[in-house]
Amino acid sequence: GESLIQTGIPAYRWPCLLWFCGTSSRDTMNALAATSRNFRQAAKLLGLDSKLEKSLLIPFREIKVECTIPRDDGTMASFVGFRVQHDNARGPMKGGIRYHHEVDPDEVNALAQLMTWKTAVANIPYGGAKGGIGCSPGELSISELERLTRVFTQKLHDCIGIHTDVPAPDMGTNSQTMAWILDEYSKFHGYSPAVVTGKPVDLGGSLGRDAATGRGVLFAAQALLAEYGKSISDQRFVIQLELKLQGFGNVGSWTAQLISEAGGKVIAVSDVTGAVKNSNGLNIHKLLKHSKESRGVKGFSGGDALDSNLLLMEDCDVLIPAALGGVINRENANEIRAKFIIEAANHPTDPEADEILSKKGVLILPDIFANSGGVTVSYFEWVQNIQGFMWGEEKVNCELKTYMTRGFKDVKEMCRTHNCDLRMGAFTLGVNRVARATVLRGWEA
Ligand code: GLU
Repeated sequence: GESLIQTGIPAYRWPCLLWFCGTSSRDTMNALAATSRNFRQAAKLLGLDSKLEKSLLIPFREIKVECTIPRDDGTMASFVGFRVQHDNARGPMKGGIRYHHEVDPDEVNALAQLMTWKTAVANIPYGGAKGGIGCSPGELSISELERLTRVFTQKLHDCIGIHTDVPAPDMGTNSQTMAWILDEYSKFHGYSPAVVTGKPVDLGGSLGRDAATGRGVLFAAQALLAEYGKSISDQRFVIQLELKLQGFGNVGSWTAQLISEAGGKVIAVSDVTGAVKNSNGLNIHKLLKHSKESRGVKGFSGGDALDSNLLLMEDCDVLIPAALGGVINRENANEIRAKFIIEAANHPTDPEADEILSKKGVLILPDIFANSGGVTVSYFEWVQNIQGFMWGEEKVNCELKTYMTRGFKDVKEMCRTHNCDLRMGAFTLGVNRVARATVLRGWEA
């Protein structure tokens, strides 16, 4: 059968992948420092009590586990897994699980915190969490990945649950990973499909969940551009796709596909194998077909090869980073020529780059709003599981549009109230909702 998880990237390309990840984060401020700095700035704008501010920043619970599995060759291998549960004032904690060789406690912490603000911005009844295992999923076989996921779930099962903490896919994991977690969790607690989201549709996953982050990015882009009297069809887009691992959720490729279907001209894309450019617009349908067959965009005949390092500096209207964190930093921010940046990835822009870009007049639609479509449809999935009633795909997409459109209005409102940029608009919106819930539940200063 078709392998859902195997990387498909030939082994000789892996050194190049390591190099790519290494350089991309070299000049980045530590993810946790960057996220906490944005939080503190929002807390200041909101005039939060300093004890409440401190309490909101510190994670509710941090879990670190060792996961030892037999490799296919019989040797034993150990991996470190994390789950950081950041805040639960507004509801069960929610967030993805990432399999990546760069996963470390600080990054998981930052991503968990971002989930708290993201679910609050989206106005869904959740808190924030994130998990991860430090491993290279592409170098593990499908059965090794299954064993690793089951051991991780055995160590974690007491800390997650339908009303406590609900994991989902993130980079390096997909619906199959969620199916294994569901199965392993159910051995301890009975069959509980709502304990994870982003499941296969056959196991209670939601229609439209796979495309949801990309579709949310499209709706967010439409709302932003409309503010400036523009529309998708009159803009040129550059999109940085995430690691091209076959069968993994693909925020960037869904974004590219949906934007091009909406009439947007996608003039350049990159992934870990390389970059391609066509000023007249790439045929995304053909590009994604090529990418599937050749395991990457490299060698696509419908455009010219481009140095991946130059992709972010391409002349375009809208730049969409949909890969790793920290790719836009003080080293390259000055060279960026886009007018808008829409953050499909989590924390792609560090605060130093934010400052440089704001001086240049570049408008940034921040991650905690722009990529919230994924977790929003996760919420719809959880609701469907609890209701025991499955929605049609049209209903899912229509509700998602309502949430994204309303979210954009709410963010803009905070920008006006606090006279701040879109990132601070989203942060103040999220932090304020979490602070209010915390105080209502009984906070004593
Ligand atoms: N991993 C996704 C994110 O960063 C989705 C999380 C979820 O659906 O819980 O937002």
